[in-house]
Amino acid sequence: MLVHVTLDESPVLIVPDLSFRAGKGFSPELRRILLLLAVVALVLISCGLPSTSTPVTEQVTDASASPAASPSATANPAAQAQSALVVTYIDVGQGDAILIQSPEGENVLIDGGPDSLAYRYLSQLGVKHLSAVVATHPHADHIGGLPEVLRNCKVDAVWTNGQEYTTPSFEDFVDAITASGAKYYEVQSGNTIKVGSLAFNVLSPGAKLYSDLNESSLVLRLQYKNVSFLFAGDAGETAEAAMLKSGQSLQSTVLKVGHHGSNSASSAPFLRAVQPSVAIWMAGVNNDYGHPHRETLARLAQTGAKVFGTAVDGTIQVFTDGDRLWVKTAAGPTTEITIRR
Ligand SMILES: [Zn+2]
Repeated sequence: MLVHVTLDESPVLIVPDLSFRAGKGFSPELRRILLLLAVVALVLISCGLPSTSTPVTEQVTDASASPAASPSATANPAAQAQSALVVTYIDVGQGDAILIQSPEGENVLIDGGPDSLAYRYLSQLGVKHLSAVVATHPHADHIGGLPEVLRNCKVDAVWTNGQEYTTPSFEDFVDAITASGAKYYEVQSGNTIKVGSLAFNVLSPGAKLYSDLNESSLVLRLQYKNVSFLFAGDAGETAEAAMLKSGQSLQSTVLKVGHHGSNSASSAPFLRAVQPSVAIWMAGVNNDYGHPHRETLARLAQTGAKVFGTAVDGTIQVFTDGDRLWVKTAAGPTTEITIRR
């Protein structure tokens, strides 16, 4: 089991046992064959295939761009937007899984959805290395898919709120962290998760966790030049009120709507403080909870934000160079969003 530790200022690092990781290298024979295959592949690529690298600005006007729902090697958004930060709200049905890709090539995953869909998306994109995996809270629709990610990708570090849960999916998650050799951190508001040039500020929860697991969700804010992202996990009105009271800056260009668009989250005062230009809710088609709730959609509409949802739009991608912002849905074109300042 992971040890629950109360934090003062700096994150707690728990280094799991690494002994299981003694791996085998390739034999010289296999290495020669792989090298030969790589050379042949390089020759073929340089001879026949067009470049897939297209700047964001060109992609906007490219009506033939491939949809993002089923990524392929040629539809890799990071390759198409090398100077951009790309945030992908992966359609995992009823659950959250968000991939953040920095222009420098760092990958961060916030939550892993309920099952293997998140890993399948990563592998189709060719993502094999994650600098950080964040679990907002231990419910299965957020951590259920993380063990598969941890077992198949190289993960440098895992960040959680430290809250434990007595479910098979949580036990599986803990086992997978230990077996992966990833560093393990527990964080709270005031801490910062640094990944290359990216810095995620933890806004919630504080030192005292809520008994309601949803309310204890890690809420992160990422500032990228003049554009900011708020990732609200399943935090609801209680956590929102505490964040408002704390005086932390909540204003964010793009809001990942809390708790799948539940009416128990996205209170009007919270939305007024966030002032999103884009709001994205993540929920499954015809889910058992009626997410997103009608009242929440009405409050989101009142903010004037452009609203997207995975049950309607499929996988949603946001591209930004830090000043301008584009949104691409699985079936739709890439459209530039006017940012409210
Ligand atoms: Zn959830």
